[in-house]
Amino acid sequence: MTLNLDRYLKDLEALVTIESPSRNPEGTRKVADFLAEKFERLGWVTEYIDIGSAVGPCLSVCNRKADKYDVLLLGHMDTVFPLGTVAERPFTNKDGMMYGPGVVDMKAGVMYMYYIAECLNGSELLEKTSVCLLFNPDEEISSIYSRRLIEETAAKAACAMIIEPARANGALVNARKGIAKYEIFFKGIPAHAGVAPEKGASAINEMFCWGIELNKLNNPAMGTTLNIGVVQGGTEPNVVAENAMCKIDVRITDVKEAERIEARMRELAANPLDARVTVRIEGGVVRPPLNTTAESLALCERVNAIGKDLGIDVKWVATGGGSDGNFTSALGVPTIDGLGPIGGNTHAATEYGEVASIVPRFNLLLETVKAVLQK
Ligand SMILES: [Zn+2]
Repeated sequence: MTLNLDRYLKDLEALVTIESPSRNPEGTRKVADFLAEKFERLGWVTEYIDIGSAVGPCLSVCNRKADKYDVLLLGHMDTVFPLGTVAERPFTNKDGMMYGPGVVDMKAGVMYMYYIAECLNGSELLEKTSVCLLFNPDEEISSIYSRRLIEETAAKAACAMIIEPARANGALVNARKGIAKYEIFFKGIPAHAGVAPEKGASAINEMFCWGIELNKLNNPAMGTTLNIGVVQGGTEPNVVAENAMCKIDVRITDVKEAERIEARMRELAANPLDARVTVRIEGGVVRPPLNTTAESLALCERVNAIGKDLGIDVKWVATGGGSDGNFTSALGVPTIDGLGPIGGNTHAATEYGEVASIVPRFNLLLETVKAVLQK
């Protein structure tokens, strides 16, 4: 069996039309319902897993109940776009490009997952093997609620395939940086900046000193980058600021780098410029790095060979963006990513997917799954 592009695009349009921001439990549940109904018609085993009321449920789908999976496919049902985006710019398909909120990140990949099941259904490849498809509702908020379930599921899997989009240049992904996020809160003493500045201890001055020191922790040669992305503080120009805070995002290829940064932050907190200012640090590593291993590279080689047969020149890249593959890889499960259609400008209004890539990339994924099931 192969992919029927018209049916696929109709399903994708329906899926994009169901709005599903991460923090909208109703929206992601509707996506789960849409998918579950289709999988049930195939006769696959579906299960909703509650991961708390802040987000919708996860949906797990297997061809049979099993303790071990020959392959795990992962996809997220949420998007970064707020409710109302579909009314502004609905799914469209013109001049070979498809648009709409979350179209390639990653509703197109989610639809691939269903059609993979449909194509495999009834095949003798499934007689003695087990395939698990896991859909989560919170990837775009770092999978904070689904991480445990992803890890528990991945621990049972021989390999993991993440159906995030292929890069704009068509490359697949076999390495991703890890991500650490921190919030740093500065508390000083407020005072009149003109009448009694000496009575004040400025939270903002302390934060500015931190800014300089934090930026020194960048180490691009090691793959470590740090960004101070949000700062807040103070009330009025004539008030010594009592409060300030900043949020930082750190990308790493080695968790030891997060340890180095945290050690330096503790040192800075223990030695403030003004001893009356106190500093509190919250946060930590939210996604460990996805690094290649001998096993994951062997999987890449198989994809390369399949690509060659299909006339696809497969390329692999490392990216600074995280995915749920970071979790599966950190458990030692061979993980490959970027197996969805080709697209770009994700998280932006200009997000697009290449229609011409849908069938070839689907075939690449399908043949890779088959090869893994054949062992
Ligand atoms: Zn995504």
